[in-house]
Amino acid sequence: MDHFLYRNGTLHAEDVAVADIAAQVGTPFYVYSAATLARHYTLFTEALSPLPHLVCFAIKSLSNVAVLKLLGDLGAGMDVVSGGEYRRAVAAGVPGDRIVFSGVGKTREEMRLALEGGIRQFNVESEPELRALSEVASSMGTTAPITIRVNPDVDARTHEKIATGKKDNKFGIPISRASEVYAEAAKLPGLQVIGIDVHIGSQLTELEPFEQAYKKVADLTLRLRSEGHTISRLDLGGGLGIPYERSNSAPPLPHDYGALIKRTVGHLGCEIEIEPGRLISGNSGLLVSKVIYVKSGEISDFLIVDAAMNDLVRPSMYGAHHDIIPVTESKAATEAHTYDVVGPVCETGDTFAKARPLAPLAEDDLIAFRSAGAYGAVMASEYNTRPLIPEVLVKDDQFAVIRARPSYEEILNRDTIPLWL
Ligand SMILES: *Cc1c(COP(=O)(O)O)cnc(C)c1O
Repeated sequence: MDHFLYRNGTLHAEDVAVADIAAQVGTPFYVYSAATLARHYTLFTEALSPLPHLVCFAIKSLSNVAVLKLLGDLGAGMDVVSGGEYRRAVAAGVPGDRIVFSGVGKTREEMRLALEGGIRQFNVESEPELRALSEVASSMGTTAPITIRVNPDVDARTHEKIATGKKDNKFGIPISRASEVYAEAAKLPGLQVIGIDVHIGSQLTELEPFEQAYKKVADLTLRLRSEGHTISRLDLGGGLGIPYERSNSAPPLPHDYGALIKRTVGHLGCEIEIEPGRLISGNSGLLVSKVIYVKSGEISDFLIVDAAMNDLVRPSMYGAHHDIIPVTESKAATEAHTYDVVGPVCETGDTFAKARPLAPLAEDDLIAFRSAGAYGAVMASEYNTRPLIPEVLVKDDQFAVIRARPSYEEILNRDTIPLWL
């Protein structure tokens, strides 16, 4: 459920007309609903109660500091994958003991940053990383709390670019080698082993792969305990999918996911962490764009809009589907017209949808891409020197620009012509 609904024929974000935001901010822009973000976070905490738990929002899905503050103020933890994301969490006021650090390539600088600022745990992904973290923490005279990410060799049955739990993926250590690696971790100075981490992929639309992975984690917990390790925390990753195509998909709900967690690992007496990104942020955001031209094509007409692949890359990168809706509801219920929806970037890949049936649209009409809150703004670039587009947050009847569109001057000033040229 989200808070983007038509009222009197015009699309609203909570109590704000999307067209009013467009008039003030200009298109294209992202708009997020505070109520939707909060609701999704709350669904997860409720699904895990009464287990001791922390829901760590995967910042990489939507990293605006205002959004992080909103979730952090509700009690959310944060899952960061870089020093930059760590800084964002801190800037949002999230205390270090609610920040977990994931990722296969943490640098020593990033480790130092997190150890200085405070960290709940590092999710270590390899033996070289284990040794590096041991060195860094020891040299600082401190101890780093860690879990080790295991790769359970489970097929997440999702898009190959976002599956992370098969043995040929770069993530984690093979679960078959866990005993060996935990034994090494226990011997290294500056590390405190507290648990196990697993994350098998993103946009999972079935619970089965989670079930397989979490059962393996439960078995591993008992084995590692019998080998003398303290396993008091399980980080079960993120990955629960969302319905991108409302008409024909209904992925599992957080409630069912929570029940699965209780069933598979609830008896172990561990504190549970999960790291959802997309399910919290995805349907909390729209990308709003304006039609520049309608161009007749040989096969279907092209709807050329002012958003492009640099603003929302998922369709060209993953072949992803985003529902597209008009900002002004077409009352006439006229026959749908079929369009190829494309942006202005000079690549054929700059296509949001092919042969998509939509209400008939004309120049200057506003449209909205649904489910654009996750992996939207964060993956944007300035390809074709198109300025990064603004992000807007709505709460009830208020809205604010939470990231402004840069001026061309700012963009050009980032380049420097050397004196010797
Ligand atoms: C990407 C990622 C997540 C979040 O995945 P979603 O599909 O957005 O829920 C969580 N944990 C790790 C380690 C990740 O890489």
